Amino acid sequence: MHTKVAIIGSGPAGLTAALYAARANLEPLVIRGLQPGGLITTTNEVENYPGFVESIGGFELADTMERQAVKFGAQTYDAIITHVDLLQRPFTLMTDGGETITADALIVATGASPRKMGVPGEDVLANRGVSYCATCDGFFFRNKRVVVVGGGDSALEEGLFLTRYVSELVLVHRRDTLRASAIMQERAFANPKMRFVWDNVVEEVLGEERVTGVRIRNLKTDEVTTLETDGVFPYIGHVPNSQLFADVLDMDASGYIITDERRRTNIPGVFAAGDVVDHIYRQAITAAGEGCQAAMEATWFLAEQEYLLKKTETAQGQEVAVVVAPDNWS
Ligand SMILES: Cc1cc2nc3c(=O)[nH]c(=O)nc-3n(C[C@H](O)[C@H](O)[C@H](O)COP(=O)(O)OP(=O)(O)OC[C@H]3O[C@@H](n4cnc5c(N)ncnc54)[C@H](O)[C@@H]3O)c2cc1C
Repeated sequence: MHTKVAIIGSGPAGLTAALYAARANLEPLVIRGLQPGGLITTTNEVENYPGFVESIGGFELADTMERQAVKFGAQTYDAIITHVDLLQRPFTLMTDGGETITADALIVATGASPRKMGVPGEDVLANRGVSYCATCDGFFFRNKRVVVVGGGDSALEEGLFLTRYVSELVLVHRRDTLRASAIMQERAFANPKMRFVWDNVVEEVLGEERVTGVRIRNLKTDEVTTLETDGVFPYIGHVPNSQLFADVLDMDASGYIITDERRRTNIPGVFAAGDVVDHIYRQAITAAGEGCQAAMEATWFLAEQEYLLKKTETAQGQEVAVVVAPDNWS
């Protein structure tokens, strides 16, 4: 399968890139991965995406973005990319189903995954009380107690959503102040179901068949206590999904892909956008903005390649062998 522009990832970055590349008549191929629509589909309410006076559901937002891109000629493909060869063009992508996709330009929009706490019991009790998605699993905790771990916007947003169902919610945070935006803090402090445990970290998730509690340690006093709970929702940051490009694309120490201000990676023709690049803002709108930039750059890159090819053909017509490399090829 060959495409002019392959886009790995179908979150706000990938789908916006798809919209722009499709409107440039490039018929981009969006490889959707394990999470079609991306991380935003795991939140119930998005209040800060411009254009929606009333909030919009995360799934609905991603679905609308995809339909808009498809309307202009983007194609979607359900596969996970397991291996890439970016050392020669066209670039080669291998899927988990054993197919090969070649592409003249590539946009990496693989996002970031929720960071795990990395404590005993977390993996064993995943989906048995440990969850990273309040929207998906909140309903199962009706009239139950849950612990949310973290102090940023995601922790508060998802915590507030969970209070619709649960009888009590304890937010465990490693500091004594929250990082979340003022409006989220106001809502959280005003919510009668929310209780705050400051300066503590979770050291173990307890339970046999299902979660029954968490062991927490106070970072100031070293005191260890047990909180009884039926569920644990960690919201403590993200890890970029960049392992696929480990030896090929330049990355920072945390694994975020490095691009210049025009979303160009160290390999000409490969662009990156969204949470796989951005460790600061991590918003749907910033991911979408970067997706737009990456697609416009890919369009210009391909136009430049085509122009250079034509020049080579003209030269060949005159039986003069000319190899013309693009200016930005290093
Ligand atoms: C609980 C929660 C609530 C949030 N609330 C808000 C909010 O209210 N407002 C806001 O602006 N932002 C919010 N965010 C942040 C927002 O979801 C992200 O910033 C945004 O989704 C990033 O978009 P992205 O396209 O870069 O990556 P993602 O949305 O993470 O998408 C990554 C895509 O890459 C695909 N992928 C990964 N690896 C592969 C592979 N190997 N092969 C093929 N495909 C692959 C995945 O399947 C996925 O489709 C929230 C996040 C969370 C977790």
